[in-house]
Amino acid sequence: MGERLPKDTSKVDMERIVSLCKRRGFAFPGSEIYGGLASCWDYGPLGVELKQNIKNAWWQTNIRERDDMVGLESSILMHPQTWVASGHVSGFSDPLVECKACHLRWRATEANGQNCPQCGGELTEPRMFNLMFKTFMGPVEEEASVTYLRPETAQGMFVNFENILATSRKKLPFGIAQIGKSFRNEITPGNFIFRTREFEQMEIEYFVKPGTDEQWFDYWLKERLDWYVRLGIKEENLRLRQHGKDELAHYAKQCYDIEYLFPMGWAELEGIANRGDFDLVQHARYSGKNLSYYDEETDERYVPYIIEPSAGVDRSALALLIDAYDEEKVEGETRVILRLQPPMAPIKVAVLPLSRNEKLTPLAKEIYTNLRRNFTTQYDDAQSIGRRYRRQDEIGTPFCITIDFQSLEDNQATIRERDSMAQIRIPINELEETLRAKLAGEPLSTQPLWATRQK
Ligand code: ATP
Repeated sequence: MGERLPKDTSKVDMERIVSLCKRRGFAFPGSEIYGGLASCWDYGPLGVELKQNIKNAWWQTNIRERDDMVGLESSILMHPQTWVASGHVSGFSDPLVECKACHLRWRATEANGQNCPQCGGELTEPRMFNLMFKTFMGPVEEEASVTYLRPETAQGMFVNFENILATSRKKLPFGIAQIGKSFRNEITPGNFIFRTREFEQMEIEYFVKPGTDEQWFDYWLKERLDWYVRLGIKEENLRLRQHGKDELAHYAKQCYDIEYLFPMGWAELEGIANRGDFDLVQHARYSGKNLSYYDEETDERYVPYIIEPSAGVDRSALALLIDAYDEEKVEGETRVILRLQPPMAPIKVAVLPLSRNEKLTPLAKEIYTNLRRNFTTQYDDAQSIGRRYRRQDEIGTPFCITIDFQSLEDNQATIRERDSMAQIRIPINELEETLRAKLAGEPLSTQPLWATRQK
């Protein structure tokens, strides 16, 4: 292992993460050739893989490995009445103030008392600003065709409660889960992908019998906090924060945020709310449908309470990148490493022939073709081997396979492990099995895989 660089703060600064993301293809400013579009980011080849890994882990834990959960993909556009019933048309607003001098707009809570945080100018009185994106359905732009881009995926699950109950034959307690894009016309987006106007959510609506809601709330708090730890986020950078009474959303009986220590401070990764029966009661009232549940065991009919763990894919990706970022000095040079756990790493294996050569290239290509059937694999034969290792370290690739001239004779290849930089040679026909075992293993950071380094 190299020597750890002393860090000036306990956290990496955001600029370093943004720059790594741009340099290596995790995320680019949106519409960049037109000068960018404020707070919109495009996920590049590695960013897509990282997000996919997060979503897969979430889907696996919350749906595939449970009997009491089912998935859904509801549409982004919903009947406009949905948003009246949910309270978003009347209440999904932030107080907005505008600077009379520089005309920048702020959420009233962000503005420093009476003055503009940018230029110190005088601010207007706060007015409520609805955060929903309005649009029109069909060719006529009139009031009757107004609809909204959903500001949360949750409502799709409430309005499908009956459909799911009827088709999945689930009994309470059970949950519906979905992953999808949401849109909020945030007054002050920022901090890279932390707060954007278009983002992706992973939401669970868990329906329970009233009276058991507090117990289920506690269960989900623990379950969701543990999930982030299992993804590899350091426990000391996670905490729970209870919402004060004045902070609670109109629907919530109780709410906690799971917060992460981002470079700008502790901020929300996920919100977990006890929504009571608010949602089903409201949708029943506005739709005229009966959204109660018949409990066969007790021969009772009641409206279920809902526990909602609501997470963001983008914020999870950002937390993982920040948490995994590390620098160390190796032979006088700074090595940047993303110490992502293998399931989160965008690329699991890189195949690196020592040089481009008419004998080495076909062998390396053959290994690459075989491995990529099972692992996200990259092939790279440009530049020196040292630079290629550094590049893979920087994007978090747990394993590099090097093919050299000796491989042509002894049919062996070198596996190099990212964190320890340890190397071993193994027969080429054992590569797949070895990688499978190592990738499924314990966290790399606590279990160095090989003690010996190649001469
Ligand atoms: P905040 O207080 O940061 O505005 P919120 O409390 O409004 O967030 P929720 O409505 O609880 O957020 O949404 C659930 C999750 O969706 C958040 O924990 C976050 O991960 C994600 N999310 C919400 N708004 C945004 C956004 N503008 N950009 C990126 N992710 C977001």
